[in-house]
Amino acid sequence: MSLPPLVEPAAELTVDEVRRYSRHLIIPDVGMDGQKRLKNSKVLCVGAGGLGSPALMYLAAAGVGTLGIVEFDTVDESNLQRQIIHGQSDVGRSKAESARDSVKEINPYVNVILHEERLDVDNVKEIFAEYDLILDGTDNFATRYLVNDAAVLLGKPYVWGSIYRFDGQASVFWAEHGPCYRCLYPEAPPPGMVPSCAEGGVLGVLCASIGSIQVNEAIKLLAGIGEPLVGRLMIYDALEMTYRQVKVRKDPNCALCGENPTVTDLIDYEAFCGAVSEEAQVAAAGNTITPKQLKEWQDTDEDIYLIDVREPAEYEIVSIPGATLIPKNEFLLGNALEKMPQDKKIVLHCKTGVRSAEVLAVLHAAGFADAVHVGGGVIGWVNQIEPEKPVY
Ligand SMILES: [Zn+2]
Repeated sequence: MSLPPLVEPAAELTVDEVRRYSRHLIIPDVGMDGQKRLKNSKVLCVGAGGLGSPALMYLAAAGVGTLGIVEFDTVDESNLQRQIIHGQSDVGRSKAESARDSVKEINPYVNVILHEERLDVDNVKEIFAEYDLILDGTDNFATRYLVNDAAVLLGKPYVWGSIYRFDGQASVFWAEHGPCYRCLYPEAPPPGMVPSCAEGGVLGVLCASIGSIQVNEAIKLLAGIGEPLVGRLMIYDALEMTYRQVKVRKDPNCALCGENPTVTDLIDYEAFCGAVSEEAQVAAAGNTITPKQLKEWQDTDEDIYLIDVREPAEYEIVSIPGATLIPKNEFLLGNALEKMPQDKKIVLHCKTGVRSAEVLAVLHAAGFADAVHVGGGVIGWVNQIEPEKPVY
């Protein structure tokens, strides 16, 4: 599927610009027309970190006329291993300003607009409205869903990328022509299931591998050339050195871009993604099991004590066999701790894994160091183990 160019061509290129972009101009598919379209393009980069760094540098070098940068953070020494738009002398500076200086050094003809604020439901539409295309380089789920939903609601295409250790993914989400991020990932993963790069690490050069795919796709969309990565998920494994493609279809039941959407405006993304306390995140990291693992433990008579920390009404709707109901508050008030067995492994679960992560932090603090919780909770259990049971 090829798509028409996103942007109309600028009136002309200057003599300096013709010299600068000559290696583009002599590619028939780009040519004068494509380069003029890039000159007229406005691209917003969300984040000037791992993915934003190479993306901004190549978009600038390519001659994209206007580059917006959303970034509120400052440059830290630990960023320099991969965020190559910043240098040693930028440590402690605003990332947005540091990125702008690098862009200007690469290409002084680029108009740079800084948005030195955290992207949120109050500013995202206003910021996005100014741009033709969004490039998402964020590393947290709340912002990802925010970017997706705002892009779909405004009818904007966006190029998405994600990186972790040696693995990367990229795609183009554009609800008018294909799936959105929610079609691929309807639910945010439960807290503790997907570690961030800050927790798990990332190979620096992976940022360039995925960031360059994002820029490649951005240029194709702006100039209207090639086959855009719409409806396809690119999966890169740097250790195996393989690129795989997975078809992603538009989900007719998508809550946002489906036939009967239930999400019609921006929502509370922290709540949607299961905002949990720092303590709960720490407790869940490395102490989260899957519903399948729980089933295995049960089937092999592993000596566990399974606790459901939801409310009685929820327990009535659906529960995991063998679970004892002790609502979360009993733990927070301290009443439940004396009921805990000393000789069994404690396994907690709730609906999706948010509340059980909080209780897990309480138990770890009380000395139950080997307690774990079930990522995805009873919903994950039903999906994976007992699909005949109801979810709520
Ligand atoms: Zn969708």
